[in-house]
Amino acid sequence: LEDQLRQSEHLIALGQLATGVAHELRNPIGIIKTLVDLMKQEYSQMSGIEEYTRAIDEQVDRQDTVIQELLDFGRPTKVSIRECSINDLIMGVLSFSAAMLRKQKVKVQLHLDPKLPQILADTEKLKQVFVNIIVNAAEAMPSGGNLDITTKQTDDMVIVSLADTGEGISGDDIHRIFDPFFTTKQAGTGLGLSISYQSIKLHGGMIEVDSTPYNGTTFTIKLPVTP
Ligand code: ADP
Ligand code: MG
Repeated sequence: LEDQLRQSEHLIALGQLATGVAHELRNPIGIIKTLVDLMKQEYSQMSGIEEYTRAIDEQVDRQDTVIQELLDFGRPTKVSIRECSINDLIMGVLSFSAAMLRKQKVKVQLHLDPKLPQILADTEKLKQVFVNIIVNAAEAMPSGGNLDITTKQTDDMVIVSLADTGEGISGDDIHRIFDPFFTTKQAGTGLGLSISYQSIKLHGGMIEVDSTPYNGTTFTIKLPVTP
């Protein structure tokens, strides 16, 4: 218990730090955006300006994502539970990720149980979990691959597995992927899976990972029908 308390105090402190950093980053990013817009207007004739400002926009977007992840990590959890269909939720996430998945040459195969029961859940939080896992899967397959998404029911749990054919996770790293700020990516925040872990725990569920280096990774999420 003492360990758990220390762990949660540690997480709260990290959360406060994340929120502080996010707020510090937000203002300068806002100013950069405004200045770039002005440059686009005033120097529209200058050669190369479009290319440069597009590059700045891309980096600014990237920073926005990081700031949003930091804020999500630090935000005290407001929960809003309602009845939802996990199959529909997954279809929704896939439809707005479609362009990204196509660009990354990820082929998605769905095996959704049509008899899957509705569950009580916070749909926004669960969507974020699936987005995180799907984005990670795409990032693990830089030259394309398959993503198999399966849903099924056992007893009073709904089970979702997401299996990619990506680079996999080494035995050393696999114990750390749910830790806040653990990342193996150049521009990663290491927050996606730790936020996802907290969200699934909040639902009384669990999230597990199984991976073979160079072969692929499977995330399995188990959610109780009633939390
Ligand atoms: P980030 O994506 O910012 O690095 P995450 O918390 O989403 O942070 O993931 C943490 C780490 O877990 C990643 O940096 C990567 O090493 C590993 N990881 C997560 N998902 C996968 C996957 N599908 N395949 C391979 N490695 C993964
Ligand atoms: Mg991620």
